[in-house]
Amino acid sequence: MRLDKLLANSGYGSRKEVKALLKQGAVSVDGDPVKDPAFHVDPEIREVTVFGDPVDYREFIYLMMNKPPGVISATEDTRDRTVVDLLPYEYRRFKPFPVGRLDKDTEGLLLITNDGKLSHELLSPKKHVGKKYYAVIEGEVTDADGEAFKAGVTLDDGYVTKPAELSILRSGPESEIELIITEGKFHQVKRMFEARDKRVTYLKRLTMGPLGLDPDLATGEWRELSDEELLDLK
Ligand code: URA
Repeated sequence: MRLDKLLANSGYGSRKEVKALLKQGAVSVDGDPVKDPAFHVDPEIREVTVFGDPVDYREFIYLMMNKPPGVISATEDTRDRTVVDLLPYEYRRFKPFPVGRLDKDTEGLLLITNDGKLSHELLSPKKHVGKKYYAVIEGEVTDADGEAFKAGVTLDDGYVTKPAELSILRSGPESEIELIITEGKFHQVKRMFEARDKRVTYLKRLTMGPLGLDPDLATGEWRELSDEELLDLK
């Protein structure tokens, strides 16, 4: 990769600003000053420094967020704050995006990355990646709901859902459940309960494939994935 591109991608400014840095001799590769913006360097092998500080170059970032309510799962929005707006520039400069969507009022696990290939694989309907949700439901939830979800329910647009696994944690005037689905239709969990004449009053995603929401992440907090979590995802 060209040195100016590597530095620009690593947050050292625009290509023009990076060129100025190079010109003043601030940049070294393996200890030798390099002034040529077109100099080719493999960041996996060479150590690039700016004013003696090593450049932390990476192509991809992988973040787990505990999405708060009231925030949109998108990269930009004209009215509301987005999950990407919650990140500092240090991460936004990688142009990350959320993998799939959670509704504005839904909380919980959201993977945010700039790795389009991984995102595509996790969202591909062919991969049947399981997603577990915790929900609070108005009214009782019964084994009949579990059977219906296992068989597939018909949503308001006629779509019949793939088999889903319901666990009833507590049933009463207000119920708590966990539901595992392997697809991601618009408002799917809410519409599945609507198909059973029930209303979701709170929804939180707990898992996506092998990735589980870190219980230490408070609502609105995020962290980078560990190497192990990333290996499991790929
Ligand atoms: N199902 C929904 O209804 N909403 C979400 O945000 C995610 C799944």
